[in-house]
Amino acid sequence: MSLKIKNLTVRFGGQTAVDDVSLDVPAGQITGLVGPNGSGKSTVMNAATGVLVPDRGSIHIKDKLLHPGRPGDTARAGLGRTFQIPRLARRLTVFQNLLAGARDQPGEQLFSLFFRPRRVADAERSIEKRAHAILKRIGLAAKLNTLAGELSGGQQKLLTMGMLLMSDCKVLLLDEPAAGVNPALIEEQILLLQSLRDEGRAILLVEHNMGMISRLCDSVCVLDSGIKIAHGDPETVQRDPRVIASYLSM
Ligand code: ADP
Ligand code: MG
Repeated sequence: MSLKIKNLTVRFGGQTAVDDVSLDVPAGQITGLVGPNGSGKSTVMNAATGVLVPDRGSIHIKDKLLHPGRPGDTARAGLGRTFQIPRLARRLTVFQNLLAGARDQPGEQLFSLFFRPRRVADAERSIEKRAHAILKRIGLAAKLNTLAGELSGGQQKLLTMGMLLMSDCKVLLLDEPAAGVNPALIEEQILLLQSLRDEGRAILLVEHNMGMISRLCDSVCVLDSGIKIAHGDPETVQRDPRVIASYLSM
């Protein structure tokens, strides 16, 4: 499933935060989104997830147009994001956070709870099985009963990725997953992102760590003051004079 952003413009008051940006995020690839602070990266993500209604432009998942301002529809279409500062329930355990990430839990529908208890029990067991498999995948199997608030920043970022996997998101938007994370955990993140890509998921990666961008990204889009100034493979983009000038002026 791919994500397409077409001619996106977002204004805040008199300021244009994103100016006519188009971007394809194909399935089975990792697409980088880079640029100095304030260049509009998070705003692109907020528009893509539907929490922000753009002034112009449209968002498509698998060529289906999404209605702006309806984040529930977007999530149901299979798109999920993580945040620069991980959003999780700090006083719940790692395992409980994962269970909370599961979408459409039959146990939450009162009707089936009363009339189909066996089905609910089966579904709960399969959700728990899934959570255990994801725990292994994100390298937190030994931490299942640890409170999420007691994890390191890097482990919290891995946990929020695991929560997206609980709802089986096919399009993942990741906002600075490596920021503040120690190098060993960055390596774990890289392996995880490669395996998610190889499963055919579409990944949009916002990241300042250029090493991570070069190693992972099939293509990179560079924003400066809301304008797309370059787009291409990581090596070409890093040699682009406009990109160098934009980073030097930071
Ligand atoms: P980045 O993620 O690249 O650092 P942002 O998308 O957060 O940049 O911000 C782009 C610009 O839009 C910045 O100038 C920022 O101050 C402004 N901006 C972002 N969100 C809002 C908002 N909710 N209200 C007003 N201005 C905003
Ligand atoms: Mg940002």
